[in-house]
Amino acid sequence: MNITNVFKATKQVGRRYKQLPILLLVAACMVSVLSSSAQAYNLWGFRWFTTPTSGCCLNRSVKSFTMSSFLTTDAWYAWTNGIAWWSHNNNASINVNMSYASSSTVKVWEVQNPNVTWDGLSSPTFMGGGQFATMDMFLNTTWAGGYSWQKRLSVTSHEVGHMLGLDHRSGACTLMQPDSFTRWDSCGVNSATADDINGVNSLY
Ligand SMILES: [Zn+2]
Repeated sequence: MNITNVFKATKQVGRRYKQLPILLLVAACMVSVLSSSAQAYNLWGFRWFTTPTSGCCLNRSVKSFTMSSFLTTDAWYAWTNGIAWWSHNNNASINVNMSYASSSTVKVWEVQNPNVTWDGLSSPTFMGGGQFATMDMFLNTTWAGGYSWQKRLSVTSHEVGHMLGLDHRSGACTLMQPDSFTRWDSCGVNSATADDINGVNSLY
C-alpha cells in the first residue's frame, strides 16, 4: 500500500466519521417514531371485567359453534385461528380462550350478505361502567370467502381485537387497520402486532 492509498483510506474513514452524528440523529428519529407508534393504539372505551388469572391478562371464553352451524368450513377455520393466534403470539401476555360453554356472552357467526360492504363486523351490547355485556362477531363470506385463508384470518383476528376493546387505527400496519386490503395485501398483518398487544394490555 503506497502513501496515496493510505491517505485515501484515512480520508474515507474521516468521511464516515463525520457522518456519524447524522446517522445517530437518524437513529434517534427512528427510535422516536417507533416508540410513539407503539403507543398509538385506539381504545373503544369498553372492556370486559374479567378477573385475570395468573400469568395472563385476559381469559375470555368465546363461544363457538359446531362446524355444521357454519355455512362454510372456511369460516370455522378463520374464527378458530383468529381466536387462537392472539394467544400464540410470543409477545402477548394475553390468553383468549375458546370454549363451547353455552353461557358465553361472546359469539362468532358466519353470514353471507352481498348488500353490505363489510367483510367482518363486531356488534356489542353494553352495561354500565364501560363494560361490554355481549359481543357478536360476524364474518361475511360473500366477500371474505374469496380471500386467501391468511387474509380471511386477518379479518377474524381484527374482529377479536374489537372484542377485546380495541378501536380502529388507520394509517398504520397494525391488526386494527380497518381496511382488509391495506391490512393484509399491503401490510401482511393477520395477527396482533406490538401496538395491538400494548392496547389490550393497557385494558386488562
Ligand atoms: Zn374493525
